[in-house]
Amino acid sequence: MKHKGDIFQNSNKANLGSYVMFLDMNSYFASCEQQRHPELRGKPLGVLTYDSPNAAVIAASKEAKKFGIKSGMRLRDCLMLCPDMLTITTHPAWYRKIHVDFMAILRSYCDDVIPKSIDEAVANFNSYRLVYDDLTVVAKQIKADIRAKYDYLTCSIGIAPNSFLAKVGTGLQKIDGLTVITPENIDGYLATMKLTDLPGIAAANERRLKLIGINDPLQMRHSSPALLRKAFGGVVGNYWHSRLNFGEVDMYSNAQNRTMSATRTLSRQQSQNRQTLESMIISLCTRLEQRMVKGGLFCKEVTFAIRYADNTDWDTTVKLPDPIQDAIELRNYIKERMGVYERTHGLESLLTSKVINLTVAIQSFVKDTVMQYSLFDNRMKKDTVRKVMYQIKDRFEQKDVVRKGSEMFNPNVMKDAVGFGSVRDLGLNKEGNVRNTYLLEEELLPGQPRKIVKKPKEIAAPAEQEGVDYVNEDTYTDVPGEPLTYDSRLMTYD
Ligand SMILES: [Mg+2]
Repeated sequence: MKHKGDIFQNSNKANLGSYVMFLDMNSYFASCEQQRHPELRGKPLGVLTYDSPNAAVIAASKEAKKFGIKSGMRLRDCLMLCPDMLTITTHPAWYRKIHVDFMAILRSYCDDVIPKSIDEAVANFNSYRLVYDDLTVVAKQIKADIRAKYDYLTCSIGIAPNSFLAKVGTGLQKIDGLTVITPENIDGYLATMKLTDLPGIAAANERRLKLIGINDPLQMRHSSPALLRKAFGGVVGNYWHSRLNFGEVDMYSNAQNRTMSATRTLSRQQSQNRQTLESMIISLCTRLEQRMVKGGLFCKEVTFAIRYADNTDWDTTVKLPDPIQDAIELRNYIKERMGVYERTHGLESLLTSKVINLTVAIQSFVKDTVMQYSLFDNRMKKDTVRKVMYQIKDRFEQKDVVRKGSEMFNPNVMKDAVGFGSVRDLGLNKEGNVRNTYLLEEELLPGQPRKIVKKPKEIAAPAEQEGVDYVNEDTYTDVPGEPLTYDSRLMTYD
């Protein structure tokens, strides 16, 4: 999975000053709803993607969390803990608008800001050492600026020598926090934490760490890279050593692509139905296809991972004979691998009712401009058709006017899967509305009528903010060649 020359990352030397700021909006989707609906403020509230007792609450308000409600719990279980909990279904357009606004506030203080998810961003202030004496003053000002625009929204800010520890800092105080981690105080903080409190350490990692005698984050920080390599089975161990010892491995100075991934956490109801799981794989592949078409890229490698309810995983990486872009082709390679495994292990299907998460990641990209079409004559036509289809989609305000066959496979699943797109794809159009050029479906802001609008030809598509980007909002960060090491709990939006 590693490709020499494909890995771009900052130098690994330790930064001892605390100049990286991580911002995490508190109870994001729930707070956004409470911002818009004052009558919901101060009340336990769960945000759902669809209204059913089996639906998962993807965000719980601060008030709901006091009852023990956590993101990812099923509505039915939440109501057992808090019978008075109110619910509301998601309004992604609204969450995206607020995302764009808080990103603009951060960028007014620092020009090196990367969104990590719809409600998280990391700002690298290393080149501002002479500009700001005290980053906590900047952090307080950022909080005040957000509050001035959205009075109900709070965020937690962590400041540390690297982005991982800055993220750890945001978790130390749950609401409206501000924590500075330094080489002097880090051991004190780590001593209060469990291994699974570290972002990216799931139960399975914890087991492996404990097996080799590492029982808590403090021990982990003071373990040798060699021991951590043993626990993580390779170079990922070095990354962990570096994270806990002030190296930067999670923020890349070079926006060069490494991995694009699309991932979905499933409700119990969704995993009962094998057809739904199959549809989900197609929708994940379609999401990646969209991003490749937009970026003018083909991939040479695909990884597919299934996580089960007992925290076990199954994954496979396919090196593709030819660079591809097509969702159904990606899906076919995945299916073929699954089929081989199922047959050799006498399994009926890997897609059991215990599946809780599916991830498709692609890597090793080739620009379409350097594709040797002579080698792929039979494919050239198809690739052109695909591009034209997306161009047609772009010409309409509502993207569901034109649909591809693979999108028709199961429209409801599709809508669910592409609902948020990638945060890096968010931009403002001429009217100041948030547009995501990668979304297949448009949803409307409240009160906005749905009508089919054909864009006049002369209006160009909105400029992409930072060119094509390969970090999906679903993954906290992608370690080169290791897109699947992070815990799926990072995909809920606290
Ligand atoms: Mg949050």
